[in-house]
Amino acid sequence: MSLAETISEPLNVEEIRRSFPIFNYPENKGLIYLDSAATTQRPIQVLETIRKFNEEYNSNIHRSAYKLAERATAGYECARLQIAQFIGAAHPHEIIFTRGATEAVNFVAIGWGNKFLKPGDEILISEMEHHSNLVPWQMAAKRNGAILKFISLNQNGELELEALDDLVTERTRLVAITHASNVLGSRVNVKKVIEKAHQVDAVVVVDGAQHVPHARVNVEDLDADFYLFSGHKMLGPMGIGILYGKEKHLDAMDPVLFGGSMIDDVNYYESTWAELPWKFEAGTQNIPAVIGLGAAIEFLEQIGMERIEAHDRSLTEYCLNQLEPLEKIRIFGPHRQRLPVISFAIAGIHAHDVATFFDSRNIAIRSGHHCARLIMRKLQISSTARASFYLYNSKEEIDKFIRVIHEAIGYFSRWN
Ligand code: PLP
Repeated sequence: MSLAETISEPLNVEEIRRSFPIFNYPENKGLIYLDSAATTQRPIQVLETIRKFNEEYNSNIHRSAYKLAERATAGYECARLQIAQFIGAAHPHEIIFTRGATEAVNFVAIGWGNKFLKPGDEILISEMEHHSNLVPWQMAAKRNGAILKFISLNQNGELELEALDDLVTERTRLVAITHASNVLGSRVNVKKVIEKAHQVDAVVVVDGAQHVPHARVNVEDLDADFYLFSGHKMLGPMGIGILYGKEKHLDAMDPVLFGGSMIDDVNYYESTWAELPWKFEAGTQNIPAVIGLGAAIEFLEQIGMERIEAHDRSLTEYCLNQLEPLEKIRIFGPHRQRLPVISFAIAGIHAHDVATFFDSRNIAIRSGHHCARLIMRKLQISSTARASFYLYNSKEEIDKFIRVIHEAIGYFSRWN
């Protein structure tokens, strides 16, 4: 029986959890993992795929005539094809393997930015970006004399896209925008941003690190110029990420890493580059992680992205409906149009203390600025506690989370 056949509507969380060894590990008994926005757990199908590579056909790709390496190459390139299909890319060679979303942004900021940004050009980003989609643009602006401009975040945790008409000008050369916030869960209408940017021929880079794991993305339909995300936030291994780029942009921009595997010809003082996608994949890649990411996508597809999205939405609404009436709780971000990421504060208590209290009850949540200091500045806070859910979380876990919230409010009120 396939995984899909064992899972009825809505998601059979108990059945899904059986695929995740971490939840069955004796030391983790009773653990409620609510930190999938930081990294997700990995199903046995992914772990087995990596084990198989290492035990059965570990070898380097592309350069060998023997069977072991042919198998590794086939696995690697097959994963590229799977990923291209998963996000609706027109060609597999528009998929570049990187170490993660962070490296992917840097590839564009350096490889595209250094070649095409000129003094006085404007780069438009938002106040809701993860540092990964902010700092590389600060550096690109400094290197190339470009000017950074920001789409504002309002107090509801939504971007003020109405201001696009004023913000996008003839000088706008590039727009870098998140598809969903890792702090507020807010989803962004990136299609609207892309349409507006394309009216002035600006290039748009979309950070899909939080969106791709939770809802179907089609880069062709969005008409995104670049789109990037990380494997470890979508059940895949760490150390692997994706940079999607339209063929014309990838062809036009420069490689960022130089060395083996990315050349066409090499002479004493000059070299020429291989064609796409290999021009961007210098050196030995994280081959088992690539193949493992392919297995993660297969797992997600078997369950169905639409069902995962519905499950996530129902958990989030269930949780918010119970949190919102609580007097001592402040919730950050919008009620609707959000991913399963809930940042909150308990009045008078530091987020780290909240997270430590939850840990003492065997619930893993995150606290801090979540690599999004501009959001903290805008909302005039230093940190939040954050709970994030995924396909292996259940309503019973949310019930426990809410019980511990009540407990925490009671516990800390004694010290206030
Ligand atoms: N963008 C967003 C929205 C994120 O949430 C993260 C990680 O939390 C990143 C980018 C960076 O991802 P990575 O650390 O995997 O490169």
